[in-house]
Amino acid sequence: MIERPRGTRDLDPAYLARHSFVESAFRRAAESFGYRQMLPPTFEPLELFHAKAGPGIEQEMYAFKDKAGRDLVLRPEFTAGVLRYYVNELRNAPKPIKLYSLGPVFRYEEPQHGRYREFWQFNCEILGGTPLDADAETTALAVLSVRAAGARRVETRIGHIGMLRAYLTVPKEVQGRILHALDKRDFPKLHQELDKAGQLDAEATLRDVIALRGGPEILKQASDLLGGVGGEAFEHLMRLSDRLPAYGIREGVIFDMGIIRGLAYYTGMVFQIHAPTLGAEDQIGGGGSYALAELFGGEPIFSTGFAIGMDRVVLASGAEGVAVPPPKLDAYVVPIGDAIRGKAFEITANLRGTGLKVDIDLVGRGPSKNLDYANAMGARWAVLVGDKELAKGNVALRNMETGEQREVAVAELASVLGMDKPLMGGVEFH
Ligand code: AMP
Repeated sequence: MIERPRGTRDLDPAYLARHSFVESAFRRAAESFGYRQMLPPTFEPLELFHAKAGPGIEQEMYAFKDKAGRDLVLRPEFTAGVLRYYVNELRNAPKPIKLYSLGPVFRYEEPQHGRYREFWQFNCEILGGTPLDADAETTALAVLSVRAAGARRVETRIGHIGMLRAYLTVPKEVQGRILHALDKRDFPKLHQELDKAGQLDAEATLRDVIALRGGPEILKQASDLLGGVGGEAFEHLMRLSDRLPAYGIREGVIFDMGIIRGLAYYTGMVFQIHAPTLGAEDQIGGGGSYALAELFGGEPIFSTGFAIGMDRVVLASGAEGVAVPPPKLDAYVVPIGDAIRGKAFEITANLRGTGLKVDIDLVGRGPSKNLDYANAMGARWAVLVGDKELAKGNVALRNMETGEQREVAVAELASVLGMDKPLMGGVEFH
């Protein structure tokens, strides 16, 4: 037996039914907001992520050399690839540019429930908006997508990394290490970094600030703790949260000064969405505004985006009991005798053309074995095609749930099965 690589999964039909439901909810949400789809390659040059990664992410990358000795990496996220594409191809396109991507990403992490080495992300970016409008649009789309996918018991926590950056007047690299330690709540490391930077005075303040979580009152408290630094940031957050009701978002949003985000390139508003139903790995998405285009050779451009972990949304919508019908066959066609097999395939083709999900016996089993198979596949109907009925232009239609059987005209079969006209979404084979 050959085992799967650690941290990977075989996504089975039942899981994928829910995954597809979540995926189509995400696509509809993004497209309803005017985003267009873009998909960067699955592997990228290592330097793309070297340029943008902060401490932390590099050890998590699947990096390798190809046969020509190029340093490549399986994408650990989408944003860098999307920004590379923007800088190389879209710099002169009308702004703002709204792009979404959806697909698997790869990280060498310690696997556990809800944390995998291959997982799916839904990623959205706005490039070239104005801060308040683009930040609000981004936050709103993240929240509404998750709701549309059936995860409704979620909490959105909004913070601002800019206030901490304004407070920490140390070189950018040192700042990055301090913020990383704060993000991970690694307080010994925080102490060590602040000590090295000669900023130990700031330690208590930083720890107090990141513990603030709640309503608008905490913005004032944070501002007081930081000695008034970051007033603009707090005003921005107030205006942002005042904007959300216009999108129909009236609850489930709080301020959280402890939202820092792992990556080094965030500059302003940051947010995370949590699903308490998920236990330890409860973060289903996060994002914020960032400066990245200049790292890839572009002009600075105001950028805001988010990534949602699709697998966690699949788990969260399941935990909330959102019903997604399991994949089922509408009908299974049973040819009775060799002579009519051709006709049975023709009936099958006609039904498939209406958009019904139809399968047919491919191994020449007898009728009773075929009915067992139809049952195992969860078919709603069995269509038994035999000479006697065919001579009258009929087939025998069996309700697999009740076992009731009756004759139906071939010409009426599709309408009896509920699909008399080719539907939108029916399969066009011609
Ligand atoms: P990030 O790009 O780190 O901000 O991650 C965005 C979202 O992807 C997180 O909020 C999680 O929902 C999801 N995510 C991150 N890492 C994993 C993982 N190893 N397995 C499954 N989902 C993940």
